[in-house]
Amino acid sequence: MKTLPPSSIIGILGGGQLGRMTALAAAKLGYRCHIFCSDAQEPAVEVSAFHTHASFDDTRALKAFAKSVDVVTLEWENVPIAALETISLLVPTYPAPKILKVAQDRGEEKNFARSIGLGTADFALVSSAAELQEARGRFGCPAILKSTRMGYDGKGQVALTPELSSEESWRLMGSGAGILESFVNFASEVSVVVAARADGTMAVFPAVQNIHRNHILAETHAPAGVSASIAHEAEQAARLMAEKLGVVGLLAVEFFVLRAPDALGRQVWVNEIAPRPHNSGHWTMDACPTSQFEQLVRAVCGLPLGAVTPHSRAVMQNLIGDDFHAWPDLLAQSSACLHVYGKTEVRPGRKMGHVTFLKGAWEGG
Ligand code: AMP
Repeated sequence: MKTLPPSSIIGILGGGQLGRMTALAAAKLGYRCHIFCSDAQEPAVEVSAFHTHASFDDTRALKAFAKSVDVVTLEWENVPIAALETISLLVPTYPAPKILKVAQDRGEEKNFARSIGLGTADFALVSSAAELQEARGRFGCPAILKSTRMGYDGKGQVALTPELSSEESWRLMGSGAGILESFVNFASEVSVVVAARADGTMAVFPAVQNIHRNHILAETHAPAGVSASIAHEAEQAARLMAEKLGVVGLLAVEFFVLRAPDALGRQVWVNEIAPRPHNSGHWTMDACPTSQFEQLVRAVCGLPLGAVTPHSRAVMQNLIGDDFHAWPDLLAQSSACLHVYGKTEVRPGRKMGHVTFLKGAWEGG
């Protein structure tokens, strides 16, 4: 892989906060970013040198964008595969379309994880209320119905209860393709972010613990507070997934930590993957020598990956909706590192920023 020197232009598909923080990390190393997104007001736009506002089905705009940059990555996982394919014919594109295809579909994700020996919740792909009704019989209650695609932060998810009919559940889920998952009575949830270069070199951030509220990530605790063997298993599983998928850039893998090992002795099961920066990796900006965003820039530009051993323990809290109004208090706290995404309107459920509290020396996790 060719090394792109500083001043090269990194194209980013999507204009949200993940793109903004990637662009800021790119600027630190002297790179410039070109954001492709549909809305001129998006957070990444105001911190980037170039932007294209167009729809992801505008082939002419996609091609012009691809020709104007040296490499392309993405911060929004639901970029249409066709758009990524169009771009990848003209410029190196990470993640490759085939990786995004797996990550966009909960069924493909789980099948892929299982094909390389990792555990997941039991699941059935269902495409109608009748198929759901049949599958429910096998899974019992509680179980979760999710749309296979375009779901995030709990959207398109329905917890099945005996009172809720299959027809009503199907309607609430709101998609033509669903996945029924058995409910995992997990002990905790952890995630791992892996950075990978084209030559296969990898750097794995330590496992962290995630706490969700209303299906949205609320807090990340680093280290994860699980046993060393569970943390190691999650880190190895994430590394294996990145290797087998052929990731260049970042891969975040979310896991359920089981209350007891499964029949194959596994202590963690894969829940979801994301081939991009991940909310549970934001703490790395303040507690690690290299952040996940800088690792992404390094990986896609063919630079050496940075060090991932944290210097501090940390707790990251998302500032969602009205949480944001605490910003003056947070700025006054010496252990708080505040990040604001520049969204002008506070809305319920909207990620406005995050704060990382540094908790003292890392001491090896
Ligand atoms: P997801 O969008 O799949 O990451 O789901 C959001 C959150 O819902 C997860 O982080 C879990 O807290 C919970 N969840 C999702 N799937 C399951 C499951 N099969 N069993 C138990 N909890 C789940």
